[in-house]
Amino acid sequence: MIACPCEVCTSADPKDKRLRSSIMVESDTTSIVVDTTPDFRYQMLRLGIKKLDAVLFTHPHKDHIAGLDDIRAFNYFQEMPMDVYANELTQTALKKEFSYIFTEHKYPGIPDIILKDISDEPFLIGDIPVQPIHVWHLKMPVIGFRFGSFTYITDANKIDEAEKEKIKGSETIVLNALRKNKHISHFNLAEAVDLVNELQIPKAYFTHISHQLGLHAQINEELPAGMQLAFDGQHIVTK
Ligand SMILES: [Zn+2]
Ligand SMILES: [Zn+2]
Ligand SMILES: [Zn+2]
Repeated sequence: MIACPCEVCTSADPKDKRLRSSIMVESDTTSIVVDTTPDFRYQMLRLGIKKLDAVLFTHPHKDHIAGLDDIRAFNYFQEMPMDVYANELTQTALKKEFSYIFTEHKYPGIPDIILKDISDEPFLIGDIPVQPIHVWHLKMPVIGFRFGSFTYITDANKIDEAEKEKIKGSETIVLNALRKNKHISHFNLAEAVDLVNELQIPKAYFTHISHQLGLHAQINEELPAGMQLAFDGQHIVTK
């Protein structure tokens, strides 16, 4: 956190240096990003990403959409518009927050995107199967995603039973766990651990971590087998 003197924000461990939460999902032929955070530009530069086929949005909070403008680099090199998948709530926010992208007479060089709806139905992006999962962030609907045996859920504090069924059977889950203390719209660490146990997912990584959670190395030691804190730049291989 900016200006914070706490032990996490001043830690020398690179795994305590956390940018905003986002993932890239890759197959041999297809690359997708889930959310474009305020750090999106740096995240793409840091990993040297050369190709992006689509963006999926979870929900319209600023820490998940603010980086959308930098999609234009991919428009430029790929010479095509970017497919952007979002629910109606997020599409409305994008049109407001990035109004210049949606005007009739566009300034040259601005992002070129094609908005696509997300419903309950599974769909394909290239060769990657996408199953939307509806979760709750206090009262805001958020979309989690299952890609084959891998599930990504951020910014949730409640999941309805019917949606849990869509997660069961995953080999790996990345799930939000903000801090140890209770929070109004995010799972805390204990709630996230309980959910992984309930869903019986063998491998879990916790993300969307606040500096209030504590040091990466210390918290990792306290976690049950199969569960770890995620860290920036982490590469997870799944079937
Ligand atoms: Zn801090
Ligand atoms: Zn949020
Ligand atoms: Zn968030």
